Amino acid sequence: SSKILPKPRWLKAAPADSENYQRLRQTVRELGLATVCEEARCPNIGECWGGGDGETATATIMIMGDTCTRGCRFCSVKTSRAPPPLDPEEPEKVSTAIAKWGLDYVVLTSVDRDDLEDQGSQHFRQVVQKLKQKKPDLLVEALTPDFQGNQKLIEAVATSGLDVYAHNVETVERLTSRVRDRRAGYQQSLMVLDYVKSLQTGCLTKTSLMLGLGETDDDVRITLQDLRNVDCDVLTFGQYLQPTKKHLPVKEYITPEKFEQWRIEAEAMGFKYVASGPLVRSSYKAGEFFLKNYIQ
Ligand code: SF4
Ligand code: SF4
Repeated sequence: SSKILPKPRWLKAAPADSENYQRLRQTVRELGLATVCEEARCPNIGECWGGGDGETATATIMIMGDTCTRGCRFCSVKTSRAPPPLDPEEPEKVSTAIAKWGLDYVVLTSVDRDDLEDQGSQHFRQVVQKLKQKKPDLLVEALTPDFQGNQKLIEAVATSGLDVYAHNVETVERLTSRVRDRRAGYQQSLMVLDYVKSLQTGCLTKTSLMLGLGETDDDVRITLQDLRNVDCDVLTFGQYLQPTKKHLPVKEYITPEKFEQWRIEAEAMGFKYVASGPLVRSSYKAGEFFLKNYIQ
């Protein structure tokens, strides 16, 4: 039996109502895009979509369908051994829509497609390539599956012209088998990040950790060191929230002060950018770092 912890006050987000947010919301409907921001009811949508005033407008778009071949215990995406086939028109449709949408920074993410010969890597590559053709100044981050560690498939995405190659370790090594699908692996995910770096495409590597799953401080410190060892550039920490009663319960609500400590500690270890806070998600304000550091 697991007791349900009460949600602390710091997990309430600001309401979404800016003009930019309203405009993006309307276009997302017209263009028929599927966003993680909406599907996951992300509390940051007002801030991310708001943009404006020198801030970057960011959104996370889902490609390759809404059904995953894996079943991670923290994730509410639908699961099936045989999801519907990919839409061959999707790279053209999605890239046209995003190019029109008025974003500065886009995160493309996908379900895992272990059922497909190339696990969807060519499809992913095409979406990025087409986007970069249509809107060269748009910054593109791809939040990718592990491609079962297959280097050819990883390379196809890493050399597509993207700016950030993101792959999430999600949690510390000790909890990985409990938290992620059995086909996922902590060492395998580190290997993915390491391999992308070794290709020297110039893109940054990025990963995310959820806290509150029962990890100890030492578990986290080992993970940070492992990530530094593969020269991972960007790191985010956020609070794990249980999407439904069937998913893993929250073990602990981490305080904002503790998130701040992790940010300071990680930055001191040499990560180029760290975002850390209860409501931080993998893609939270992802564009701001670039605006400040890479775009003159
Ligand atoms: Fe969308 Fe990510 Fe921002 Fe949430 S944090 S609103 S999922 S871009
Ligand atoms: Fe969710 Fe990704 Fe796991 Fe699929 S692989 S269940 S989309 S976290």
